[in-house]
Amino acid sequence: MARPPEEGSERCPECESDLELDGYELDVGETINCPECSIELRIVSENPTRVVLAEE
Ligand SMILES: [Zn+2]
Repeated sequence: MARPPEEGSERCPECESDLELDGYELDVGETINCPECSIELRIVSENPTRVVLAEE
């Protein structure tokens, strides 16, 4: 099984919605929910903000 990419994205990996996270206080490892599709995302980088799908 291939490892998932950990570099992440500034858009929702599921629906590709721009998350517009600028101005939010987010910590690496924190999870958020996509405002468009409600999928759970995990912050993997703060500056720039990058997210990946939260697997659990
Ligand atoms: Zn989404």
